[in-house]
Amino acid sequence: MRRPLVAGNWKMNGLPGSAAELRKMIDVLDGGDHCDVLVCPPFPLIAPFVWDCADSGIEIGAQDCHFAESGAHTGDVSPALLAAVGASAVILGHSERRADHGEADALVKAKAEAALAAGLMPVICVGETEAQRDSGQAEATVLAQLDGSLPDSADIVVAYEPVWAIGTGRVPGNDDIAAMHHAIRQAVIARYGAAGEQVRLLYGGSVKPGNAKEIFAIEDVDGGLIGGASLKADDFLAIVAAA
Ligand code: PEP
Repeated sequence: MRRPLVAGNWKMNGLPGSAAELRKMIDVLDGGDHCDVLVCPPFPLIAPFVWDCADSGIEIGAQDCHFAESGAHTGDVSPALLAAVGASAVILGHSERRADHGEADALVKAKAEAALAAGLMPVICVGETEAQRDSGQAEATVLAQLDGSLPDSADIVVAYEPVWAIGTGRVPGNDDIAAMHHAIRQAVIARYGAAGEQVRLLYGGSVKPGNAKEIFAIEDVDGGLIGGASLKADDFLAIVAAA
């Protein structure tokens, strides 16, 4: 059995005032355990959020990391530093990093290997653009990304996030999500053997309280990676309840 995971990607949000939303999540979840809950704020908020969330059942993660343990990498943060301040996971290869920072599969893989070595759970993102879907290349694109991005260990989470669904309010049809998650499941089993059965596959892209239950009921969808709706406690809690 795979335990569902709902992960919130706060992106570059979290200015003073947002802490109240986290407080509300903590108060409501109160160590609740029907699924794993992860919140990934910007780097400066990781340590205070870890402190705030102690014993709450909410884990804290990062949105990126470097692949080196330490050294001359101005502006970067290592997996070891993240682990030292209490982070337990890191999102890697998000489409915004692939697009804005030119991150390629090999770099995502190197970061995933480094994250695992530091004891962090990598949440590895893959997903096709609208042009790739329209030209019938969605599955081939995602499988190629997996091939290049997955580390040697199966102690990972994979998030399927169609680029065109992120922040747009548009969501693929249930059949399309099911087909892609089935293809990803086959790929991780081919890669890791039986351990691939245990890899959690998240769907991400415009998940809201109104569609979460339906999406999470699809076979091989083990939860969600949530952007915009993770910033509002009421919305995020409703999505957690749906998982
Ligand atoms: C994301 O950026 O990972 C994401 C899923 O965003 P949203 O939920 O806002 O579409």
